[in-house]
Amino acid sequence: MKCIFCDIINNKVKNLKVWEDKNFILLLDANPINPGHLLLIPKKHAPDVFNLSDAQYIELFILAKKAARILKSVSGAKRTGLAIEGFGVDHIHIHLVPVNKGNELNPLRAKKVPLDKLKKKQTVFIKKFKRFDH
Ligand SMILES: [Zn+2]
Repeated sequence: MKCIFCDIINNKVKNLKVWEDKNFILLLDANPINPGHLLLIPKKHAPDVFNLSDAQYIELFILAKKAARILKSVSGAKRTGLAIEGFGVDHIHIHLVPVNKGNELNPLRAKKVPLDKLKKKQTVFIKKFKRFDH
């Protein structure tokens, strides 16, 4: 089955990765709700976060917590919102979105950003997440 996230993980398509290790990748969303909107994705294809083992689930959320802290410092936003829905792509992904007030974490607010602008942000984020590890 075709999966855009598996294609990104396997470098089959151009992407906006800012960090990766053996098991996870972190990339900028091409249609951000707010600037700096990131996706944290386990490399192993699985559709439902609540079917992960306890150990995998904990590892994913600890990583999300660490990424959210860095994102908050980079974005300057009041908080980092977290959302998991899974209807867009059937491969587990956590949305980490800089937010400043209630109701900003609304997928209807997502809009396409020119690629050159995203590439600039990617360069900045790669530096910020250089020492990001778990
Ligand atoms: Zn996949």
